[in-house]
Amino acid sequence: MRQAKLYRYTIPVETGVILRNRRLKQREGFALQLTENGKTGWGEIAPLPEFSLETLEQCEQQLRNWTTLWLDNQIAELDNCVPSVAFGVSCALAELNGELGEIANYRAAPLCYGDPDELYQELAQIEGEKVAKIKVGLYEANRDGLIANMFLEAISDLKLRLDANRSWTLEKALLFASKIAPEHKARIQFIEEPCKTPELSRQFAEQTGIAIAWDETVREPDFLVKKEPNLTAIVIKPTLVGSIQKCVKLIEQAHSLGLIAVISSSIESSLGLTQLARLAQQYTPNTIPGLDTLNLMKAQLLRQWDNSALPMIEVGSESLVEIEHLCPLSA
Ligand SMILES: [Mg+2]
Repeated sequence: MRQAKLYRYTIPVETGVILRNRRLKQREGFALQLTENGKTGWGEIAPLPEFSLETLEQCEQQLRNWTTLWLDNQIAELDNCVPSVAFGVSCALAELNGELGEIANYRAAPLCYGDPDELYQELAQIEGEKVAKIKVGLYEANRDGLIANMFLEAISDLKLRLDANRSWTLEKALLFASKIAPEHKARIQFIEEPCKTPELSRQFAEQTGIAIAWDETVREPDFLVKKEPNLTAIVIKPTLVGSIQKCVKLIEQAHSLGLIAVISSSIESSLGLTQLARLAQQYTPNTIPGLDTLNLMKAQLLRQWDNSALPMIEVGSESLVEIEHLCPLSA
């Protein structure tokens, strides 16, 4: 017999997490537990404010509709659901059906700031390629360029990932690039969406020879994975994209074109985050995923992330409330 339980969770997050226009004080979402033949699968449904187009209310309605069909053994399509619902439900089904591997990829690219010697020591403990990242576009483009160049200069086998979140004009992006020594440019693995539009980012890449990656562009409705000059990667945030199946299709398309696919977080709790790390291990084992966002939270939810010491929210906690326990109508 099938059963489903729907929970609503609230987790405090560190203030200072700025999502474009506002600070996020707490992360809210749903946890869905599906049970069948003694097996259980969990999924997290957590639309990200200002990034997801759907609201929590819409998600709850779709979750109830989907679950009712599933309990009744009817075909319940995920393609018609909003991305966060499609992703979370597909995770619960994948766990239930044993389709999601247990091993997780917890590797993270350390953030570059401060002293290169400290970063060097951190990188020295990492096996394999040394990849670090810098968020750019928050301060002067000039300064961003000087810092990136300093790290590339100081650590000769360092590769950098940068993320500008579409914040620069072409002029500012070019100013950034002018501070990177020509011999270091190839070690910028990519810069995510340097300019305000994809077209300007393409122009930036063409004029500077610095590689770019698509992130925001991946989520546009008409997006197709294509090979383009100077494009090295696509960033996939499943909560904003959709079901595991849809994400795997994007990954396979990217790989077939020689592009890197980076599985990345939308600030999920440790429940969704560990599942993303397992997906990363399963489908992009040679790529460092973008999942080091747990430290923004004050607690973990149901699942342990690597060796995190954050307290755990379990079923029964007031931060994780059961709102529905559904059984088949015929039962
Ligand atoms: Mg990005």
